[in-house]
Amino acid sequence: MSNSYHSILQQAGLASVSGNGGAAAPGSLEVHTPIDGTLLARVPMDSSSAVAAKIQASAEAFLRWREVPGPQRGELLRRFALRVRTDKQALGKLISLEAGKILSEGLGEVQEVIDICDFAVGLSRQIYGLTIASERPGHHLLERWQPLGPVGVISAFNFPMAVWAWNAALALVCGDTVIWKPSEKTPLSAMALHRLMAETIAEFSGAPVAISQLIIGKRDVGEQLADSELVPLVSATGSTAMGRALGPRVAARFGRSLLELGGNNAAIVTPTADLNLTLRAVVFAAAGTAGQRCTTLRRLFVHRSLCTRLREMLRKSYASLAIGSPLEGGTLIGPLIDAASYERMQATLAAAKAQGATVIGGERAAPAGIGGGFYVRPALVEADRPLAVMSDETFAPILYVVPYDSFSDALQMQNGVRQGLSSAIFTNDMREAETFLSATGSDCGIANVNTGPSGAEIGGAFGGEKETGGGRESGSDAWKAYMRRQTQTVNYSSAVQLAQGVEFPVD
Ligand code: NAD
Repeated sequence: MSNSYHSILQQAGLASVSGNGGAAAPGSLEVHTPIDGTLLARVPMDSSSAVAAKIQASAEAFLRWREVPGPQRGELLRRFALRVRTDKQALGKLISLEAGKILSEGLGEVQEVIDICDFAVGLSRQIYGLTIASERPGHHLLERWQPLGPVGVISAFNFPMAVWAWNAALALVCGDTVIWKPSEKTPLSAMALHRLMAETIAEFSGAPVAISQLIIGKRDVGEQLADSELVPLVSATGSTAMGRALGPRVAARFGRSLLELGGNNAAIVTPTADLNLTLRAVVFAAAGTAGQRCTTLRRLFVHRSLCTRLREMLRKSYASLAIGSPLEGGTLIGPLIDAASYERMQATLAAAKAQGATVIGGERAAPAGIGGGFYVRPALVEADRPLAVMSDETFAPILYVVPYDSFSDALQMQNGVRQGLSSAIFTNDMREAETFLSATGSDCGIANVNTGPSGAEIGGAFGGEKETGGGRESGSDAWKAYMRRQTQTVNYSSAVQLAQGVEFPVD
């Protein structure tokens, strides 16, 4: 392994796992960097009995943690965020190394961890209920939110730190404990971030060490979390196929799941759009992160009067995108996560061609000085109408560009897929913008005007409709998903009075 990779692992506190070049131990995960395929580490996986023990410890820690006042729980998050701030560079580089994001996006992801912790600190003093008018004299009707229990967090490879933080920061201030199963493709990012949390907890009096647990493994470990009756909520981020398998398993034991699944996001460009602004927003949303964000822009519906011009602008801009190592300054497009991802992209482009589209780009790229890795030139796929291939999410940089004639057609095409995560409109026409944001407009969890569909702020609730799973994480009142709602009635009169005027005289 190169010295620079070794030093990134070392700076992230992972010196002990780096350079394990010997024979593969049974029960360990091999972690390769998508930059050039170098083996970074072999990480031991948790056995099924180790997972069971961690879940049990989490359940026991919950019994103590739920009694700690909310603002003190917030103090733990405040201290954790200070450590993350100090280590931001090291953690950002680790994300680039392990997930292949360009450094600016790696650092952006760490910033998201910090931001949600700051949000959670404020939230820890604002977990509020309701007082409700009672129909009975001398009665007090309330709604209170109680801690729920251990929360299982299953995360995807493309946000190897932030997804856990969105869940864990809220769950911990809500009085829950957290058990994290990261993607098998990115365990190192999880280990580095979780180490900071474990150290923060160890120095924090009153917090049992087991309130935050990390379990390393593959799908079977996720299934163990899904099946455990000790885990009242499983928050799972990943493909729709994963959610389709996991959701019913959790429901079968009457557990709750919070699902953040695949997207197939669209934007509409109307005749009054500012084309320069649109171009910059579209290229980042579609080609940035090498198309590997759940909110990546995949379908672009352009008014016919602008379509030829915008297609030309996109072709020119795409041709100049710098492809290379995500650790090098100036790179805009890093690698795909692995060979399977590359193959899926090629199969989708072949299908698009077979369905009559023109494909520009999409071929494998070989950045100078890098042997290995799956780099691609982001693809533009020009078609005259929506094609069958556009109804699925291909987790790669493919942007379909399709003309429309009437605004209602554009809305229909945008909403006409099974997924419902993020959406955008580029327009300076107030009527179109407001219609897009109205009940008859976008059917997605996120709807933006004159800004792309990707790159959400933590202040709003994040998630999507339909096959995206319906979950909401992060800001707004997403915290309620991590708590148990309780309606309480207090009778402070000296008489028993039944609701709805029911009479039941007893001697
Ligand atoms: P994936 O579905 O392959 O894996 C995600 C996680 O689920 C991993 O930790 C994996 O081990 C686990 N898993 C897989 N099958 C499981 C099962 N049956 N039971 C329990 N756990 C299981 O997804 P990926 O390739 O890592 O990530 C890309 C996908 O994630 C894309 O579809 C993307 O849109 C989606 N994603 C969604 C969001 C969102 O917030 N909506 C965010 C990031 C990624």
